[in-house]
Amino acid sequence: MYTQSNAVVKAAVYGHCSFAEASAILSERLDAAGDMPSIEKIRGAMDSLKSASESAVNTATGTHMFVWARVSNVISKRLDLTFKLEAAGKSKATSHSATLVRPETESEFYEMVHLFVMVVISLGLSSAIIVMKFIDDVVFGTVRMKEHFGSAHELLLLYLREIDFDPARVLHMANVFRRGGQDTLMSEARRNAAASFRTCGANLLQLDGAKYPGSDRVTKNLKPDLKPNGKHDDSSKKPCADFNAGRPCRTLKADGSCAFAHKCNQFVSDKGPLGYCFGPHARCTGCTYADDKKLKSPAK
Ligand SMILES: [Zn+2]
Ligand SMILES: [Zn+2]
Repeated sequence: MYTQSNAVVKAAVYGHCSFAEASAILSERLDAAGDMPSIEKIRGAMDSLKSASESAVNTATGTHMFVWARVSNVISKRLDLTFKLEAAGKSKATSHSATLVRPETESEFYEMVHLFVMVVISLGLSSAIIVMKFIDDVVFGTVRMKEHFGSAHELLLLYLREIDFDPARVLHMANVFRRGGQDTLMSEARRNAAASFRTCGANLLQLDGAKYPGSDRVTKNLKPDLKPNGKHDDSSKKPCADFNAGRPCRTLKADGSCAFAHKCNQFVSDKGPLGYCFGPHARCTGCTYADDKKLKSPAK
């Protein structure tokens, strides 16, 4: 299998291996190649692999996420997350990037929604009826269920991600919500909101959407230019204190992933010395461990 160079390219295009792996295989064969014709063949395969990988990146860009991130910059300029939009078939120089800034208040969020709807309609990404219905389902439906506006914001991001990164390219604003899977996305949105909006923990955002105390918006990373990438090391024996308090993680590895496990750090009495609940939840969102076994300080 894959003895022909073009078979390697096909394997990458159809997702049997990554473009990097295919490229490594071809380089290996180039080194081993003995005669000119086979070197030419491998070179040709490497060229088509290069153009195939570029077009794959282009189709996987997030137009809707880009618009949302762009709109969020109108409200504020604080850096948080970057999405990139690359125009298909153009050189890298035509790519655009926008940095998502999460809204500080509920009214800022609604202002962003308003701007987003205007941009989506004026760009012709969707019709007014469809985008308004989508926003009503995802945003106002969530807020009507007495969820925090931060959860509605994260849920909107998740749905935009579903649309933008749908491998079959069949999802759009008119069908993504009715497709099902709302519960899964909602629980993911709640988790993201707990991390990004800090709805719990001392003197942070109150659940009714009240203002942050000003200084709490400053993220204190140990390395200031390193952003948490959302990953965490669940093989670590130590639960992450930031995750449990609903703050962005501060102890990061070089790639931005958290050094600790995102497990509950509630002290419990029946797991030996220094025993933690270690359940798959943040302590600030409510620990489900038996109440009579919870301890205020570590077990000896
Ligand atoms: Zn963490
Ligand atoms: Zn727990």
